[in-house]
Amino acid sequence: MPYSVMLDAGHGGTDPGAVYNGRQEKDDTLRLTLAIGEILQNNGIDVEYTRTTDVYESPYEKAMEANNAGADFFVSIHRNSFPTDNQVMGVESLVYDLSGIKYEMAQNIDEQLESVGFVDLGVKARPNLVVLKRTNMPSVLVEAGFINSDTDNQLFDDNFQDIAEAIARGILDTLSNIGDVREPFYRVQVGLYRNNMNANRLLEELLAQDFPAFVDNVGEYNRVLVGGYDDLNTAVAMEQRLRRAGYDTLIVS
Ligand SMILES: [Zn+2]
Repeated sequence: MPYSVMLDAGHGGTDPGAVYNGRQEKDDTLRLTLAIGEILQNNGIDVEYTRTTDVYESPYEKAMEANNAGADFFVSIHRNSFPTDNQVMGVESLVYDLSGIKYEMAQNIDEQLESVGFVDLGVKARPNLVVLKRTNMPSVLVEAGFINSDTDNQLFDDNFQDIAEAIARGILDTLSNIGDVREPFYRVQVGLYRNNMNANRLLEELLAQDFPAFVDNVGEYNRVLVGGYDDLNTAVAMEQRLRRAGYDTLIVS
């Protein structure tokens, strides 16, 4: 089965993101995201998008979209901004914490972007960003240069296709390193229903209690799942939390 990647063009619709001399982050991110997606698709990756047009969705909605689609990876594309114009330039990637395959992917992307000519500002941990925190899969947010740096914008416009290739290459290299040996991955199953109304009722109930729940459709069944964890201990801790809240659970991998 090919890997699936949910690509997210940062901002959109009523949220322009950062703006500099009329240039809007949401336009740069959409154009770049679509270009990256095309390259990934040509390399056999199953690509999905949170948006392909100029529409607004909250970061939480974007994370839930990725969870509901059961994507293997989530990559969000942004442009950076600094309080003072033309003060800082370069690329950086953000991840929930500096560990695992997401950290590797972020480093690979930054390295590739450096070879296009960007200054590499490195990978940073941002545990409070919704798209990194609420997604169940390894997630990376790429800041493709500063929108209020003329140098970065020049680079962005003159080397647009190379930049798309660089980000796609960073993703593809990471995937080819893991090959078919995927990291063990655990989720907690809370319900299994044929009737998707029952599944959705349970989903709403869990989300209202702040559990990172989603529904996975397998054939005629709807599985209500919570979380996605690299290590079994974290999955067990979540299972215990759910059991204390009165749910029957089962750890699945
Ligand atoms: Zn942004």
